[in-house]
Amino acid sequence: MSKLIIANWKMNGSIEQIEHDLSIYAKSVYTNNPSVVLAIPNIYLYLAAQIQNKLGAKFSLAAQDVSKFRNYGAYTGEISASMLKELGAKYFIIGHSERRTYLNETEDSLVHKIDNTLNEEIIPVFCIGESKSIRESVEYRDFLENQLKTLLKVKSSFDKLVIAYEPIWAIGTGIVPTSEQISEVLKLIKAFVQNYLPHAKITALYGGSVSGGNASEILNLPEVDGVLVGGASLKPGDFVSICTY
Ligand code: PEP
Repeated sequence: MSKLIIANWKMNGSIEQIEHDLSIYAKSVYTNNPSVVLAIPNIYLYLAAQIQNKLGAKFSLAAQDVSKFRNYGAYTGEISASMLKELGAKYFIIGHSERRTYLNETEDSLVHKIDNTLNEEIIPVFCIGESKSIRESVEYRDFLENQLKTLLKVKSSFDKLVIAYEPIWAIGTGIVPTSEQISEVLKLIKAFVQNYLPHAKITALYGGSVSGGNASEILNLPEVDGVLVGGASLKPGDFVSICTY
């Protein structure tokens, strides 16, 4: 089975870039694949879905956020899970350290957002990761397990779960954990799911400074079911080369 490769564009891109990059991804055998997921800004999902239909492309689309409120209502500025589903989102990124830090994402809002998207059959990509100071303490495993415990509060049933280990010290820094460090945490994630959520089929990802140069080593680790790619996903040449792992 192909490994899951998710491009997290964050707050980047334009209509021109979406048209340009998606036409490249539709043509390459490495990216024209449902396991290649493009998390572009939500505002461009409709355009991306139209391009996808026009080109008959098989890659998947992901949202970068969703409202914690259900369906429709008086929540100015919000976009609901059902709207994102209509726009073609198959996955959505949740719990990213940037949103936890800059947007004050609380556990309560994470749980509501996960519930809302699961109700629309959108698969959450739940991100966890420790800061440098926590990594240097003895407690980083407890910290990561505590972050995972958010999933135990989700009420909706689910059978598929994507969890991404994204150490904050590796995001956008060019610093990548050793293979042993990545494997250790992905094993911890899988053991957690087996213990507390045995009904769920888990896909465990690594994210943080993945590039064309290191993707193959990371993606060939047996515990790694895929990667979440930030900066390198903005350059189509680099992203295609990651997908050729
Ligand atoms: C991210 O922020 O999700 C990420 C993986 O970023 P980068 O690849 O740029 O480190």
